[in-house]
Amino acid sequence: PLAEPVAFDPGPAPGITSLAPVVGGDQTVRTASGAQVRYANFDYAASSPALTEVAEVFTQALGQYASVHRGAGQFSQITTARYEQARETVRRFLGGRADDTVVFTRNTTDAINLAAHVLPADGDVVVLDIEHHANLLPWQRTGRARVVVAQPTFAQTVEALDAELARKPAALLAVTAASNVTGEVLPIRTLTALAHRHGARILIDAAQLVSHRPISLAGYGVDYLVFSGHKVYAPFGAGVLIGRKDWLDDAPPYLVGGGAAAHVDLSDGADWHTGPARHEAGSPNVLGAVAIAAATEAIRGIGFELIGYHERDLLTRLDEGLAELDGVTPLQIFDDLHDRVGIAGFSVDGRPAREVAEYLSDHHGIGVRDGKFCAHPLLTRLGHPDGAVRVSFGLGSSSEDVDRLLAALAEFLG
Ligand code: PLP
Repeated sequence: PLAEPVAFDPGPAPGITSLAPVVGGDQTVRTASGAQVRYANFDYAASSPALTEVAEVFTQALGQYASVHRGAGQFSQITTARYEQARETVRRFLGGRADDTVVFTRNTTDAINLAAHVLPADGDVVVLDIEHHANLLPWQRTGRARVVVAQPTFAQTVEALDAELARKPAALLAVTAASNVTGEVLPIRTLTALAHRHGARILIDAAQLVSHRPISLAGYGVDYLVFSGHKVYAPFGAGVLIGRKDWLDDAPPYLVGGGAAAHVDLSDGADWHTGPARHEAGSPNVLGAVAIAAATEAIRGIGFELIGYHERDLLTRLDEGLAELDGVTPLQIFDDLHDRVGIAGFSVDGRPAREVAEYLSDHHGIGVRDGKFCAHPLLTRLGHPDGAVRVSFGLGSSSEDVDRLLAALAEFLG
């Protein structure tokens, strides 16, 4: 006789676990009541904690380091090879063209300042008003920035950019790939095609994109891209500008000093290198570059498909939970964009953002960000001149963290 079918019991809904261990991910903090709780980090958009895998590579490189490009000793050779390999790893991770230049900078801000430095002298740059100050102030300082106000939909914003680029030619469109305030992901292909249609190049501020979504510079036709190591699970202090070499090689060095010059004599000054060395005078942050490369490898290993699912599942849980709380209003720039990285910006009726953030920290050991997120024009236009709250998560986050956050917010709201 056939066995009775066994009823399938799926059990309780599974939680969403973290995707990768991060340094300090299990640390506890003391709350105001004296309780010891695991620290729940919801500030990944500001700086993501280093992956333990990255920390291991970093420590290994630290154990053998010596000056790059100058020494004949074996550690010097190993360090130089690691540094140059890091460029190649980053280039491949971003789908860069074979002849793209990868310059290691201090961070995104430094990379955009470098881009502004190499912008051709007669070229304007068009930017949106939604940008992080890092992608606004360096352009404004050139005196050639033209700011376009983003419209309620992305489609209307593209029309506004189109009109501005048609009104007067520009050398560059510099735009964020994902908002650091709302997490909304902008369609890069559309913006790239738009810029190119008007004979402009495009620079993508990918500080909030690189660890969340795949990108291919060659595939999309993106001319320049910038990001920071500390937002991709590597430590502070190193960032990247990658892109077309001609503007970089045509401009004077960003910094002058050792390493940038091929030949120096007192009568003629200097002959400058081309390639990344031109803009990397001084001993570079080798360990930072190696860590960035290790982080991109780790991200590749996990895979963007899994990263996307993890983020979407946590965001859904977070958004649904926030929607049930009275007085919580999400921040949004565009009505017609639906892809978001792991960021939720919101305000709480009648309660200063700082009060919310302090409550979460003091009473629950939960770290969020409050303020204007270095995007003052956007926060003002969205009606939050005094700031808002930002919750952001990443590879080390779990549904347990989200549930703790939602419960703490519910308690705060009484
Ligand atoms: N651009 C965006 C979109 C950012 O979110 C940030 C940092 O918050 C930056 C630029 C500046 O990055 P960094 O402070 O590493 O230079």
